[in-house]
Amino acid sequence: MLLNAKETLLKEILYQYLNQLNMICHCEKCIEDVLAISLNQVKPQYITDIDKISYSKSEMVDKQKNTAMLVILTEAASKVSTFPRCENRLPINKDNN
Ligand SMILES: [Zn+2]
Repeated sequence: MLLNAKETLLKEILYQYLNQLNMICHCEKCIEDVLAISLNQVKPQYITDIDKISYSKSEMVDKQKNTAMLVILTEAASKVSTFPRCENRLPINKDNN
């Protein structure tokens, strides 16, 4: 079974920092959009066994890599929040005009 370890890692970081990403919607569709945009920007890391993810995770203890991932996620979250494509979409009205 082929798995992209980066997908699992990005998902974990996304949920860990969800409240700091300032997303206007946290539905499944918006979360997936953020993940898709982010994953398209990082090099995939394919593994053949789910057990090997824990090995990849130890690499992620590297704070610099973690921060880089978070930056990618933050940018993706801001894109999705600007143009949400889900049914829960709220009017973009930030009371600052
Ligand atoms: Zn949504």
